[in-house]
Amino acid sequence: MQLRKTGQSALSVQGIPVKHLVALLVALLVVLTAAFWPESNTEPTTTHTLTTSSTSHPPSPQIRYRAANQPPETRHSGDLELTQSLPDEDEHALTILDDALLAQTEPEAVEIVEDEIQLEYKIAIDQGDTLSTIFDQVEIGQTVMYQILAADEQLLALDILRPGNLLTFRKNPETLELDEMELYIHAGNQVIYRRVDDQNFEFIEVIHEGDWEQEIVAGEIYGSFYVSAIRAGLSKAEIHEINKLLGEQIDFNRQIQAGDRFQIVRNSQYVNDEFTGQTSIEAIRLQQRSRAYTAFLFEDGNYYDSNGESLTRAFRRLPHNQNFRVSSNFNPRRLHPVTGRVSPHNGTDFAMPTGTPVVSIGDGVVTRVENHPFAGRYLEIQHGSTYKTRYLHMHRIDVRRGDSVQRGQRIGLSGATGRVTGPHLHFELHINGRPVNPMTANLPMASSVPREQLAQFNKRVDELVSIMEVAREEQFAMRRDQNQPGT
Ligand SMILES: [Zn+2]
Repeated sequence: MQLRKTGQSALSVQGIPVKHLVALLVALLVVLTAAFWPESNTEPTTTHTLTTSSTSHPPSPQIRYRAANQPPETRHSGDLELTQSLPDEDEHALTILDDALLAQTEPEAVEIVEDEIQLEYKIAIDQGDTLSTIFDQVEIGQTVMYQILAADEQLLALDILRPGNLLTFRKNPETLELDEMELYIHAGNQVIYRRVDDQNFEFIEVIHEGDWEQEIVAGEIYGSFYVSAIRAGLSKAEIHEINKLLGEQIDFNRQIQAGDRFQIVRNSQYVNDEFTGQTSIEAIRLQQRSRAYTAFLFEDGNYYDSNGESLTRAFRRLPHNQNFRVSSNFNPRRLHPVTGRVSPHNGTDFAMPTGTPVVSIGDGVVTRVENHPFAGRYLEIQHGSTYKTRYLHMHRIDVRRGDSVQRGQRIGLSGATGRVTGPHLHFELHINGRPVNPMTANLPMASSVPREQLAQFNKRVDELVSIMEVAREEQFAMRRDQNQPGT
């Protein structure tokens, strides 16, 4: 819209004296500056500057609060009840209008006033953005940023900003201080950092379960399994998981042959018809000429072969080899010593002298090695799709992101980095993305489906096999039709 108006002026450029042209350019510059300068106190300009500034933002993700099929699950560090208190974007705009003005203005005019004192900023994360550069961009000081990072210590959601994430900043209409910052991770997951007093923020995690849709990914192998699986639409992480689950039975480098077929039953999460990027593999079948290799996800979160034998290697309970005292337990209702508000402790603390070896409690892949002002030097390990562990305040980390680790492997030395009162290891266990008590959680220690659940497991296997049979029949049919690889 802006461009079209500029275009009109450009038509008459040739007939205008240079002086006027300069004036025109200056005016245009003012208009543009007003549109992009966040806290500009200039008079309301014209409607089209507004249009520019609003189209420069990504589409509002606000809708997710209202259009959810079911009430979202929320997890937060405060003791207030949530969703109904989520702020309405429009409310901010309206509070700075008096009634008389409101009565006579059109919707565009409301936006102009909002632009005059901008209270809300939406920032789409680009490659290379850091929290620090974004705070500079919206002109909010580092002190506030550190207050938010302190609130994020138990969640660590701000440590992995990715392109596609959105940050929304909402300022208080009176004090113009930051009231809250919202991190939009995907349609199924948002985190709100809300001010509780002039020094502290709390986090509120909004989780929409949405719908999981089932699909079959099937393919025939030509070249490597990896290449064939990518071509069929599996992600790198999914292929890694398949390799891990079937790797004890079959050597993916030597025993795979051209013409072998695979079928994967996969669930993908959608919230309001938007794919969240979250998937879960329900069943795997790799079909060779004379035998099939299978894996089935059971309701306990573990994978078994068709006989009910576990394909997930057992975990150990403790991330260290000595009997260290637990200095602070997992406690989702812990009270914050300063604010007196609920501030969850999402892990177990072990009192360990700096320099004590820390070990991974299971086989997995290192997904994070970070340094956080409050969590200190920490790492995260993904164990299949169900389990994840975190080890905080480390003195030294001996593995890198992307490394595969084994159960019991030393991953570094404990320490006292970040905000601590003394040296200790803060250890977290997450099951399906939720932190649980690492000392009591149900971890795969058994090697097969318990006998009393075997009938139920077999029923599930039959269901999944019949789903995959359909894909296999189609693959055969396709092969008869075209008899040509890779299309
Ligand atoms: Zn802790």
